Amino acid sequence: MSKRSIRQREQREKKRIAKERVERLFTLAERVYPYEPELANRYVEIALAVQQKAKIRLPRKWKRRYCKRCHSFLVPGKNAQVRLRSRPYPHVVIKCLNCGHIMRYPYLKEKKARRKES
Ligand SMILES: [Zn+2]
Repeated sequence: MSKRSIRQREQREKKRIAKERVERLFTLAERVYPYEPELANRYVEIALAVQQKAKIRLPRKWKRRYCKRCHSFLVPGKNAQVRLRSRPYPHVVIKCLNCGHIMRYPYLKEKKARRKES
């Protein structure tokens, strides 16, 4: 086996481990949030550090679960306000109630479903 393919394999392995760690940290954050929200935020910080270092993408599931500004773990109905808006395009508005930061995400699934219907 060439040196290069060994390196590629190592890289893949590193990314796989990083993904697992990110997943575990966010899962932990969700679990501890009701008792220790500060600890949940700490887990988010660590998860983001792991993600940046390994240059991996955050799983979709967790992408919208933290504040892009203050990095708080967000729980809809607790420290996050979630609203659906259809204008000017279908999107979700998530407001962090810790720092007031507002995040908008296009709601593509709904849009596609509607297109099919019509
Ligand atoms: Zn925030």
